[in-house]
Amino acid sequence: MMRVIALVLIVLSGCNESTPPSHGKPHGRPVEVSSTHRGHGPISVVCTTGMVADLILAVGGDRVQVTTLMGEGVDPHLYKPSPGDVAKLDAASLILFNGLHLEGKMAELFSRLARRRPTFAVAEHLAPADVLEIEGAIDPHVWFDVSLWRKTACVVRDVLVAYDPAEAKGYQERYDGYAARLDALHEWARKELSSIPPQRRVLVTAHDAFRYFGRAYGIEVRGIQGISTESEAGVSEVNALVDFLTERKIKAVFVESSVSERNVKAIQEGCTARGHRLAIGGELFSDAMGKSGTPEGSYEGMVRHNVRTIVEALK
Ligand SMILES: [Zn+2]
Repeated sequence: MMRVIALVLIVLSGCNESTPPSHGKPHGRPVEVSSTHRGHGPISVVCTTGMVADLILAVGGDRVQVTTLMGEGVDPHLYKPSPGDVAKLDAASLILFNGLHLEGKMAELFSRLARRRPTFAVAEHLAPADVLEIEGAIDPHVWFDVSLWRKTACVVRDVLVAYDPAEAKGYQERYDGYAARLDALHEWARKELSSIPPQRRVLVTAHDAFRYFGRAYGIEVRGIQGISTESEAGVSEVNALVDFLTERKIKAVFVESSVSERNVKAIQEGCTARGHRLAIGGELFSDAMGKSGTPEGSYEGMVRHNVRTIVEALK
């Protein structure tokens, strides 16, 4: 009888590989992994965005082999996994994604995968108090506050240490080095952005991705579309932004690499019609990093590019 009970328990725990994604809400719980790495080869990790991949590579080093599903210019809000993606996820040892509904069309797939293998929504392990909520919707764009993204690096370290405890020391050392670089990057961004005169510290972008950025670096932000590109901007929202930009004499608005320019152009035309000259201040990387192999193809390079572009256009 005891043997039967023990067997049932093993089977049950085998069905629940990791904490299931908590419906896109931040929970702040510590990482738990019920299976560990077997074998000596690198761990195959599949992740969604380049930003998450960057974290795993930084902390995992040569212990991880990372496949990224969403490359340059890809919008994660609208991304639908292909049969090839599902096959890659099914073959992975570890799965990491941003969570907080960023990958809105993959939620069901991740809940299913979490029953079979360690699957983590890194941003959902942040404390609820750190995460922004706008009109009842959770804002997933946490990577734009570098000091907050550093906390997700800590989550990734915990995942790797729990899954591959034999390498704990290496993960801790790489995390320490990366965290120090992110601290320096946060400080640099704060200093650069504080050189914009306070009345001009207004950032208008194609969609509402920069609220964490605004909170961290003291910038007022307005998105033309909402926090997901799934919602369309209405005529009244466009007109309200045109009024705001004209009244405040804001010099520039920005386009995003992963979102259509159409709405930004409409705003620009609206301002021109009212005699306010509004420039396109440049392209920002919002929900996808730049081309891999270029400086903007890394998280740190992406942040630097955005900060420099914003400072140059608004100063
Ligand atoms: Zn977004």
